[in-house]
Amino acid sequence: MSSLFPALVSGSTARRPALRFGDRSLTYAELAASAGELAARLDGRERVAVWATPSLETAVGVVAALLAGVPAVPLNPKSGEGELGHILGDSAPSLVLVEPGVELPSPVSDVERLDVQVGVAGQDAQASPGAAARPGTEPDDPTAPALIVYTSGTTGPPKGAVIPRRAIASTLDALADAWQWTGDDVLVHGLPLFHVHGLILGILGPLRRGAAVRHLGRFSTEGVTRELGAGATMLFGVPTMYHRLAEALVEDTELAKALGAARLLVSGSAALPVHDHERITAATGRRVVERYGMTETLMNTSVRVDGEPRPGTVGVPLPGVDVRLVEEDGTTIASYDADGTPTGTPDGETVGEIQVRGPNLFTEYLNRPDATTAAFTEDGWFRTGDMAVVDPDGSVRIVGRKATDLIKSGGYKIGAGEIENALLELPAVREAAVTGEPDEDLGERIVAWIVPTDPEDPPGAEELADHVARRLAPHKRPRAVRFLTSLPRNDMGKILKRALPDAVTKAPE
Ligand code: ATP
Ligand code: MG
Repeated sequence: MSSLFPALVSGSTARRPALRFGDRSLTYAELAASAGELAARLDGRERVAVWATPSLETAVGVVAALLAGVPAVPLNPKSGEGELGHILGDSAPSLVLVEPGVELPSPVSDVERLDVQVGVAGQDAQASPGAAARPGTEPDDPTAPALIVYTSGTTGPPKGAVIPRRAIASTLDALADAWQWTGDDVLVHGLPLFHVHGLILGILGPLRRGAAVRHLGRFSTEGVTRELGAGATMLFGVPTMYHRLAEALVEDTELAKALGAARLLVSGSAALPVHDHERITAATGRRVVERYGMTETLMNTSVRVDGEPRPGTVGVPLPGVDVRLVEEDGTTIASYDADGTPTGTPDGETVGEIQVRGPNLFTEYLNRPDATTAAFTEDGWFRTGDMAVVDPDGSVRIVGRKATDLIKSGGYKIGAGEIENALLELPAVREAAVTGEPDEDLGERIVAWIVPTDPEDPPGAEELADHVARRLAPHKRPRAVRFLTSLPRNDMGKILKRALPDAVTKAPE
């Protein structure tokens, strides 16, 4: 397999900007020099961890590990001691790469440390771009493990997904096809660097294309306005960020202008509430491109820039990825092969689990052969655990996770997402989550968890339930409404539904 980063060794990109964090930046030649030097120092290591602060050092550390063929484990600097202990115990790195001056908490401080030195443009690097990148040491084997990324831990303890080199290359190339992503794009990035979205898509994606990244350090609407206003072409965000943009757009005409000028606004990691999407479109004239993926599969589907915009969907299967929708009894509703050819006619209504196959997949959960086996069907498809319907044109609409978002009530299968979307339309509702709870009569009853816009004047439970029943259907009416001050979320802004009962007891009455 050829290099993951052709631009690091190509003379033509040497002087082009690669990465910028705050006021520090690297050209491709400078990145090649820094990462190449570090890669040489990683030789012989079996596995390294990267203390993934949003910094040049993290990006250089990960690129160096990829060049050296040493699997890297990105660590979330905001994780608590328990989670870090779990990940370190599981992945056993012999070295941790760190931004100089950053203090490591226990138990990461027990691991041998290597400060990542990011060189300023050396004469040598300028003269012979890429010479220091030592591309020859990159493993040739497409199945060689490149990264071990831990899942977000939304439904249980994070699992280490072993991601091979081929998965990174294929997913990034499929996205390039869907998004017409080129070396001329400039990405505005405000995401953390320890998950697939921020690291693989947000850093490795532009670097594979020879494009540029401007990282905001911390997401802010001002940063988005500034960078898109200064010629950046694309923005990656999670739904909580698009929510903040939607709120700010009410007054901020500069932001509206900047977003309107962007080539591509991409959302992923969780469902983008329809209400936020509509508000952004109304203020900017732009649609947000949704894509759907997982740590284990990287990207599976995306809205295509050359396709019909279809609000509320995560788009169509990406090239190279086999996608099928399977009912609970094992019946396949529809199946799409690697070039998108469908078998079966989806009706846009029948709910099934999304299963996938392709070069974008992980190889295994680290140290979890049982979980790995359980994650695949007998005929070799990965069970995503995500439930969806597929429209006749192949557009996938995610209904929610099988484990937490599919409510079986009164003989119906009801997706939490559409009820959440309906509740979020009400100005009195700031945040909403919907779950199912055991119920003697119904099997499960629908429960709405609401953060009111004005805690002093929360909407009435009946009013909320009536709105859902009227907007959707009577059987989708929430049977209980619970108010709280904020929803429990992880660092990616994903709602932690299993933590809701604790969150409500902590909320003041
Ligand atoms: P864990 O597996 O540890 O419980 P997690 O599933 O949240 O955590 P990730 O791999 O980061 O960990 O997230 C993948 C999940 O995120 C998908 O299975 C899906 O449920 C959700 N997801 C990602 N993108 C989208 C999207 N565009 N719309 C709806 N859901 C999405
Ligand atoms: Mg998961």
